[in-house]
Amino acid sequence: MGVAVGIDLGTTYSAISILGESGRAEILANREGERITPSVVYFQDDGSVLVGTLAKRSAAVAPLDVVGFVKRQMGNPDWRFDAANGRQFSPEEISALILKRLKEDAELTLGQGAVTDAVITVPAYFDDAKRRATKDAGRIAGLNVLRVLNEPTAAALAYGAESRRDGTILVFDLGGGTFDVTLLTVMNDVYDVKATDGLHELGGKDWDDRLIEWINLQFRHEGGPDLTATFESEADLREKAEAAKRTLSQASSTKVILSGGGVTRSITVSREQFEDLTGDLLNQARDLMISLVEETGLGWAGIDHVLLVGGSTRMPMVARMIEEISGRPALRVGNPDELVALGAGIQAAMEAPAAGTSRPRVIVQDVTSQGLGVAVLAHDGSGRLVNSIVVPRNTKIPAKGSGVFATSADGQTELLVQVTQGDDEDLAFVREIGDQLLTIPPYPKGAPIRVEFAYDIDQMVSIALYDLTADSLLGSFEVDNTANLSDEDIRTAMDNNNDTEVA
Ligand code: ADP
Ligand code: MG
Repeated sequence: MGVAVGIDLGTTYSAISILGESGRAEILANREGERITPSVVYFQDDGSVLVGTLAKRSAAVAPLDVVGFVKRQMGNPDWRFDAANGRQFSPEEISALILKRLKEDAELTLGQGAVTDAVITVPAYFDDAKRRATKDAGRIAGLNVLRVLNEPTAAALAYGAESRRDGTILVFDLGGGTFDVTLLTVMNDVYDVKATDGLHELGGKDWDDRLIEWINLQFRHEGGPDLTATFESEADLREKAEAAKRTLSQASSTKVILSGGGVTRSITVSREQFEDLTGDLLNQARDLMISLVEETGLGWAGIDHVLLVGGSTRMPMVARMIEEISGRPALRVGNPDELVALGAGIQAAMEAPAAGTSRPRVIVQDVTSQGLGVAVLAHDGSGRLVNSIVVPRNTKIPAKGSGVFATSADGQTELLVQVTQGDDEDLAFVREIGDQLLTIPPYPKGAPIRVEFAYDIDQMVSIALYDLTADSLLGSFEVDNTANLSDEDIRTAMDNNNDTEVA
């Protein structure tokens, strides 16, 4: 039998863990001895691939062959990476290369046979297509994906296993590319997620970008050329800016040495300057955290701990802000960039305990991060298209929901079912995650049709439709990976709208 591991497939860094014989989850170091591996891939001319720190360092010398941040593209069918060797790669394929590297390194470290099974974590906000893409990436890498687990839930599992403390926890996860905030309670080994929200385009990279812009400006003021003008000098500047940012988490100021166009300058940045440059970014995270706490009606008095997750929470400004708002210390448990992987390792042992070890006794009760709804358009009518939420956001998973809708025209024989994911009533602000054209018998207008949705434990969606007049199943389908509707599609649909009673 193979080994089951937990994997945090991160936007900027990935990590892999296993529940050890001691009963504690442990990070498995990579072949370079590092506990986290940059999620960066370098496609070399000879067709071979580098993953991790070496790939990240190659960005300045081979910027067109190095790809990172691919997690942001998961579930996007239109995105491909063009490597210089002429080949194209999907986000799933690139993620699979990262997974392959993690898997092989883990096998090397463990020295006990093949890693066959994995729990892979995903941001709580990931929709159906992104979750499927993640599972597919695992499959491409030759892994049996036991589950996809929400990252904040994984972090809470790792925290609970270490601290053995019950209470209400707010998980504040600021990574390299995304921000997630989640509220949950831990009570007698039951992890009960209450609510979750996130900003998908806010992370350490934005802090880097601000610093890059500022340093570049200083360099130009001192007679240097624009370092963002070429890919090579920009990648070099990015590496130096990120290093400076990390230094500023420890030191109150640091120097960056830059060269370009025959000019070499040393530029000093203070932590205070850095915090001024990026304060508004932190405010975005703060505001979302505050609104989640308000939404759940708990208030700060109802929250016992705020747990820091993600490498960017190493910036002192983060804990300071949280302590100001919440009136309690922000908790660090181990390394903030390892917690998610550790929790995934615990979950992996629950799904597939290793021979001779006992299954962790933990119950995880998670929630949906986005509403699930439907718009039914009568093909021969001219109805308004409306998003009707059937399973609201923050519903316990696995979740089921159903709604009854009516046909819009006499004798219509076709029904287009469009499934949406998102919380807005307005179709322009939700994502269409699939559609199906159904054939129905010709009934008078207003014939009832029932739509049934199910979210499975991985938060993936299945749909069934019933003709209530004939009391028969019209069809069932899994959500297919249709891309988002284009703006034009949405506009056309709106024009076609009217009082179609959707369904
Ligand atoms: P992911 O988004 O992939 O989950 P992590 O949680 O590992 O990534 O966070 C990576 C981010 O954390 C990067 O933007 C990195 O620059 C930042 N980071 C790591 N260490 C520090 C530090 N000491 N100070 C400030 N930022 C840091
Ligand atoms: Mg992360």
